[in-house]
Amino acid sequence: MQIKVLGAGGNIGNSGILVKDDSTTILLDYGLNPGKNIVHPLHVRPKDLTALITTHAHLDHIGYEPYLYIDGSVPHYATKVTIELTELLLYDLLNISGDKLPFTQQEVKKLVKMSKAIEYEEPFSINGIEAEFLNAGHIPGSSMVYIKGSKRVLYTGDINHIQTRLLKPASYDLPEVDYVVSECTYAMQDHPEREQEEKRLIDFSNEIIEDGGTVLVPAFAVGRAQELAEIFYSYNFKHDVYMDGMALTVNEILLNNPQFLRDPELLRKTLGRLNYVNGWEERRKIVKEPAVIISPAGMLMGGASVFYSKKISKDQKNGIAIVAYQVEGTPGRSLLEEGVLNFNGNHYSVNAKVGKFDLSSHSGRSQLLQMFKSLKGSPKIILVHGEQESCEALALELNSMGFNATCAKTGEVIE
Ligand SMILES: [Zn+2]
Repeated sequence: MQIKVLGAGGNIGNSGILVKDDSTTILLDYGLNPGKNIVHPLHVRPKDLTALITTHAHLDHIGYEPYLYIDGSVPHYATKVTIELTELLLYDLLNISGDKLPFTQQEVKKLVKMSKAIEYEEPFSINGIEAEFLNAGHIPGSSMVYIKGSKRVLYTGDINHIQTRLLKPASYDLPEVDYVVSECTYAMQDHPEREQEEKRLIDFSNEIIEDGGTVLVPAFAVGRAQELAEIFYSYNFKHDVYMDGMALTVNEILLNNPQFLRDPELLRKTLGRLNYVNGWEERRKIVKEPAVIISPAGMLMGGASVFYSKKISKDQKNGIAIVAYQVEGTPGRSLLEEGVLNFNGNHYSVNAKVGKFDLSSHSGRSQLLQMFKSLKGSPKIILVHGEQESCEALALELNSMGFNATCAKTGEVIE
């Protein structure tokens, strides 16, 4: 068996892992870098692929998958909600960046048509190779993938072992394998207690609103937006909470897929109290109201959060709450690091308060270490999806603890 890292070796973005076993070749994820320029994983020929497996519906894991359907019809496996969210996100990607991409809606349709929905812990077979999805706790429908051919592989995809209001955590009880391909986004960093961060966000929002200001929370449409709404609901937040953009469509998809939620009833109740934003007139109105606005995109790369952030940033009585990892080169990152907004080369000065809250959907360092310590046998650990420096530091540390770990480079082949 051979594992080739096609992307996200020493960086976060454009994930792609190729697993070859005799005549079977399985591609795990095929994403795009969400930064300014489109960066895709190393090339694969669709006709060489036996199957495509998607771990979860984030663009850095699915964004380049339609490329495989320009000239191919590869069978695709994912959880049901992942397939539905993938379709939504890829159409949105084409709307925003279609001119930079080699594929069209046609290929997205073909991908969906070739998709087979698989449940968690329901073994399925690809050319005699056994595969299984395990809950990864990262976003609704997110999976780790277990593959058993001549060797056994576990690919974590993106993983979270911390329970959130929206999702059940990933389990530490994993099957024994020969290789673990693991993300390491937070290789060298731990998260503070989630409840403490939730309370800080509530306090930040209350203070700003009681001062007559508006709070913008830029959020990923899938999972994060709904979790935020659940937080405000659970703390009995007294002020209006609005949600905008693609997150509203995601709400409906999640309600139709309750098996992927920790507490479907909580989401139903939360959405019942939430205000849905309906068009531009309402956007222009609520941006001056004492309220919280949850809106994609999470890194201010597009969507209504761009409009909101330009308006809200002007006034010092307003606030912007950053609640997720901001990839380098995104407007969200420059807001956090330099305190400026930069859209298409235009600078906007920021007078509003900017708060940072750690509500990550990735395991922190302690959880990653606990996962590695819980592994049965002595698998080779292949680290991907982390920034070079921290990825290498974690590999060194794991090796000093007696593990066999490597920080993989893109293009590297591990036998
Ligand atoms: Zn992800």
